[in-house]
Amino acid sequence: MNAFNFFLPTQMVYGQGVVKKAGEALALGSKALIVTGKSSARLSGALDDVLAVLPGEYVIFDQVENNPSLETVEAGGKLAKDEGCDYVIAIGGGSPLDAAKVMAVLAVNDLPALDLYTAGWENRALPIAAIPTTAGTGSEVTQYAVLTLEQEETKKGLRGADLFPQVAYLDPNYTASLPLHVTVDTAVDALSHLVESYLSNRATRASDFVALQGIALWGTAIPALRQGRFDLDDRDALLLASSLGGIAIAQTGTALVHALGYSLTYYEGFPHGRANGICMAAYLEYTKQAAPERVETVLELLDLASVEAFGELMDELFADHAGKLDLAPETIAHYVNKALLTNNIKNSLGNPAAEDLTKILTNSIR
Ligand code: NAP
Ligand code: ZN
Repeated sequence: MNAFNFFLPTQMVYGQGVVKKAGEALALGSKALIVTGKSSARLSGALDDVLAVLPGEYVIFDQVENNPSLETVEAGGKLAKDEGCDYVIAIGGGSPLDAAKVMAVLAVNDLPALDLYTAGWENRALPIAAIPTTAGTGSEVTQYAVLTLEQEETKKGLRGADLFPQVAYLDPNYTASLPLHVTVDTAVDALSHLVESYLSNRATRASDFVALQGIALWGTAIPALRQGRFDLDDRDALLLASSLGGIAIAQTGTALVHALGYSLTYYEGFPHGRANGICMAAYLEYTKQAAPERVETVLELLDLASVEAFGELMDELFADHAGKLDLAPETIAHYVNKALLTNNIKNSLGNPAAEDLTKILTNSIR
């Protein structure tokens, strides 16, 4: 069993109405850069709640796109600098949360965003308050920020201890406005974090504890996910499971599902969670060789009889979505080569080689 150093510097404030209850404590400085996507902060009601209680000045950057770009984070960083912002409030799904983290770095460091990947950064990022409106990425409790790098034709994560938000406000009500397909996609992303953490070669007793609780909690929402109808208890289970997934991957990282999923998003346009969901059953089948008991535990916690039943669940959840995957052998080889270049792949049990990934991706699109 791996030794561990469990580090979670983010204060988590969880429950209904937590943003309004925070009141003036919401302010981590005197002027906020509020970062969000085009609609989620308003649709979820989170922005109204923030503005109702926030003391002091603020400026809003509401142009974060899905799978954010270098240009977007540079524009937000520049706005923070020009306006003299001294902290960041991030509202939205993983895309605005991740973009806000990098803006918090660029606000106090003078370098192009791409250079952060090679040179790192000297000055500590501005403090961040994160308010998730999806239940998927767990970004509110991780030290990661994933951006799209056109130069490398992929998505790639930055990591840094100062990318952990200082505080996360988690209110399941904010996820009630999610369209069904985003609820499903993001829920499957959360599950992939929990499962990849539990099946990681970096798993520890501490990360397992969190991941197993999260998988069991996620399992309670399966009937709602199957029916496409969610009450507050389901939203609550999915949001907390998502945060537990974030805490788990903050310790272990993600693994081969994410490594393959990045190409399914970059080249094929699948949302992040669905891109992961496509590969999950074949990944479980593969991991059975290295860790049969662990795969069995995952299935038991989800009350699924077999890996086939897991695959059927994914098919059912994604049945209404447009877009069927049909990849030529040379395309599969390209995506496999890209996955082998990622850091995520190294976390996978079984030390997967190109032929293993080829089999997983081929079986995933049957
Ligand atoms: P997202 O890209 O942030 O959002 C997906 C869509 O949902 C957007 O159109 C968004 O609208 C909308 N939306 C969000 N909340 C809503 C709400 N409450 N009501 C209505 N619409 C809402 O999706 P995501 O899956 O949460 O984030 C994916 C990103 O996170 C990817 O880039 C992925 O790589 C990254 N990620 C990061 C980590 C990490 O640890 N940092 C982990 C996993 C994944 P808007 O246009 O308003 O945004
Ligand atoms: Zn993910």
